[in-house]
Amino acid sequence: MERGEVTLSYVRKLVSMSKLNFTEVAWRVVNNAMQILGGIGYTTVYPIERFLRDLCLGMIWTGTNEIMKLIIQHEYKKEISDPEFWKNKRNVELDELNFHLEEEKVMS
Ligand SMILES: Cc1cc2nc3c(=O)[nH]c(=O)nc-3n(C[C@H](O)[C@H](O)[C@H](O)COP(=O)(O)OP(=O)(O)OC[C@H]3O[C@@H](n4cnc5c(N)ncnc54)[C@H](O)[C@@H]3O)c2cc1C
Repeated sequence: MERGEVTLSYVRKLVSMSKLNFTEVAWRVVNNAMQILGGIGYTTVYPIERFLRDLCLGMIWTGTNEIMKLIIQHEYKKEISDPEFWKNKRNVELDELNFHLEEEKVMS
């Protein structure tokens, strides 16, 4: 971004995607780890219960994951609203057999 190669909007989208993905995947992994350990996983004998609590917070602070989803949508919409975005991109609608039928689009 500092070299002017990508926009702030694009970076904000990537950071939000990373935060959303990392915290949700980590939550699933640790939740499975606790399930595998059974009751002892819930106690303080192993650090799993602590990881699970911390990951719950991970999905809340620095902006909740619901807010991350809103940011991703918002930034992506901005990205594709820019005509520059579509330069050198293939219009996949033209791949359809009846792409020229404007009145009723029947996508196979
Ligand atoms: C231990 C801890 C440390 C913190 N440290 C800091 C810190 O150092 N600096 C700092 O600035 N903040 C800090 N925070 C605050 C933290 O960033 C906020 O708690 C977090 O951003 C969520 O905001 P909120 O608690 O006001 O929840 P709310 O905004 O009240 O959200 C409550 C629920 O509603 C959902 N929600 C809200 N709005 C929408 C929407 N538009 N669409 C869909 N769902 C929505 C949320 O996803 C969430 O599930 C800390 C919080 C904790 C728990």
